[in-house]
Amino acid sequence: MSAIRIDGNEISKSVNAETAAEVEALAQKYGVRPGLAVILAGENPASQVYVSRKVKMCEELGIVSKKIILPESVSQEELISIIDDLNKDDSIHGILVQSPTPKQISEKAVINAIDPKKDVDCFHPANVGKVFLGDLSGFLPCTPWGVSVLLEKSGISTAGKHVVVLGRSAIVGRPMAALLLARGANGDATVTVCHSKTPDLPSFTRQADIVIAALGIPQFLKGDMVKDGAVVIDVGINRIPCATTKSGFKLVGDVDFDALVEKTSAITPVPGGVGPMTIAMLMKNTVRAFKMSKGE
Ligand code: NAD
Repeated sequence: MSAIRIDGNEISKSVNAETAAEVEALAQKYGVRPGLAVILAGENPASQVYVSRKVKMCEELGIVSKKIILPESVSQEELISIIDDLNKDDSIHGILVQSPTPKQISEKAVINAIDPKKDVDCFHPANVGKVFLGDLSGFLPCTPWGVSVLLEKSGISTAGKHVVVLGRSAIVGRPMAALLLARGANGDATVTVCHSKTPDLPSFTRQADIVIAALGIPQFLKGDMVKDGAVVIDVGINRIPCATTKSGFKLVGDVDFDALVEKTSAITPVPGGVGPMTIAMLMKNTVRAFKMSKGE
């Protein structure tokens, strides 16, 4: 069987083109543009790359961005006071604090300080709660939403399917399960969530019509762990040593792509699968925040 390779670069480009057109229409209508504040505390190199990508994407789509760089030593109080100011700033519609934060800062306290109406990462308990209640009218969790859009644009419905999600983190596994359980063509699935305490995990993945891997373990999902014709979505991003690249590293997912590509009916690569979708959906949430601020 030859699998469809789901191209996250192409699909994210089409999502971003729709967002750019919507931003232009909103700018015409209101005379102002959506604004996103991105806060980075500390000098984590991966976080610096993620923040630069988000700011660059804002520029490309006509969204105003405000990058706030804080020292590693910033106190929780100082950070929350900056968030309070942004909560009150009418030119800012979305606020995100890049994770991980320095060790003296509680991520939970930071998330709770963000006005739920500006919580474009969809991390605030008020927004997470809505999603878990099946109300998808507000912000949606960026990475799981990106997975849903990849499936939808590839013509793969989850309705009535058995979807096995690997991983139960607050940012991927759990909200992914919530989206899949919601009513509608991108939900209506029967969902199994496996995690580090699941015994005999392959006995679950072998029953799945769709497997979504988000564990953070390089090439964990092997060829003998899925049934023929299954769909496999790889959320993982892992840097592993590689003798043939200049940097000495390469990026791989949580799926053994080469072992699975011939067995599956559709599969996402890493890089170029789920990764570019996360930022695309963040931009869409920022537009939603702007529209909500205008009562739309
Ligand atoms: P996490 O470490 O917070 O959670 C990992 C989950 O995997 C946990 O719930 C744990 O129970 C489960 N797990 C760990 N070992 C397991 C095992 N042996 N068997 C079964 N389950 C096991 O990670 P996360 O933040 O959810 O991220 C998961 C992966 O997705 C990482 O590689 C991360 O880099 C990647 N990620 C990608 C994007 C993107 O935009 N593509 C976004 C977020 C995370």
